[in-house]
Amino acid sequence: MLIVKKFGGSSVADRDRIYNVAKRCIEDYKKGHDIIVVLSAMGKTTDQLIAQAQDINPLAPKRELDMLLTTGEQVSVSLMAMAMNALGVPAISLNAFQVQMHTTSTYGNARFKKIDYDRIRHELDNRRIVIVTGFQGVNKYDDYTTLGRGGSDTTAVALAAALHADTCEIYTDVEGVYTADPRIVPKARKMREISYDEMLELATLGAKVLHNRSVEMAKKYGVQLIVRSSLNRAPGTVVKEVVGVERMLVSGVAADKNTARISVIGLKDQPGIAFKLFDLLAKHKINVDMILQSVGRDGTKDISFTIPSGDVREVMDIIKDNQNRITAQKVECEENIAKVSVVGAGMMSNPGVAAKMFEALYNVGINIKMISTSEIRVSVIVDAKEADKAMQAIHDSFGLED
Ligand code: ASP
Ligand code: MG
Repeated sequence: MLIVKKFGGSSVADRDRIYNVAKRCIEDYKKGHDIIVVLSAMGKTTDQLIAQAQDINPLAPKRELDMLLTTGEQVSVSLMAMAMNALGVPAISLNAFQVQMHTTSTYGNARFKKIDYDRIRHELDNRRIVIVTGFQGVNKYDDYTTLGRGGSDTTAVALAAALHADTCEIYTDVEGVYTADPRIVPKARKMREISYDEMLELATLGAKVLHNRSVEMAKKYGVQLIVRSSLNRAPGTVVKEVVGVERMLVSGVAADKNTARISVIGLKDQPGIAFKLFDLLAKHKINVDMILQSVGRDGTKDISFTIPSGDVREVMDIIKDNQNRITAQKVECEENIAKVSVVGAGMMSNPGVAAKMFEALYNVGINIKMISTSEIRVSVIVDAKEADKAMQAIHDSFGLED
């Protein structure tokens, strides 16, 4: 078998953890399997590197930021190879350049385009464990790029797809995918399995356990994922195409506190206004999430939408610079909000999920500021300070606990 194993930063945070991972990989290697290991940077390394860059130049060029951040993974893979060699097993570390993992050119948020597998194949054929840097790629200028925070998961899935691995195991410091973040909802339950679609929604909506693009890619190439702990042998959660016959009405609850609401007020109530506004944002590569337009009255209307918190300043500037063109009288921003969502493939064929969620919020006195739905999810915007309470109430009302 060819197995891809990805370990997050906390799983390689220090010497003991590195040896722990090395030993676990060697176990499977000694069974005769081919092993590719993908690593994140050790512990909080990436955060520290970002802080260091901020300190030198808060407006550092994104190219240089990627040049800096990619060093984190280079440290963890080389140390891992040294540990395995010390344990008597031939292992080699490779970075994105050596593998030739080609991405788009966007620094800080690159996407894989093409991955060469000759070098990795060659090393595997020589019975080496191959340890690859997560989170990084190279673009057409031969520069390093990074894939966005948490991107090592996507590296693992991309390699599993490119090399047709039999399985892709994502090791982390929790035992799998839970019905809600167990630090916030102590009664949350670990799921045995979850579909790609549900996992994709949860990952996009704030569950941090998997990088959302890794799930997208796993679905596209049919790579089965197993999310499990690097610290114990619990079986973990399988992410795959179909899940059991009994589809859960609701499989999980997630909260995303990294969101803000922009309201553009007093727009002319005529064709083309929404187009002009969102075209402007799209040209600046701003990811808009929920959109709400009020009923036109007296020839004007308002449009509110949510964006990632980090984009607030840029979006406010863009709109103010174009206020006349989009006919806005005023623009406002609210930053202390959170998006709380329920996800479940079963809601497609069962009405009433939204009503039940709203009832749960009503029962604990939480006001809803915005609502949006898709086939398998309902999301609401609430005050950020009420997000945890909202998650608990919703989790309780759907009976997701053990
Ligand atoms: N080290 C990177 C980060 O902290 C990538 C990853 O951990 O997946 O975001
Ligand atoms: Mg991660």
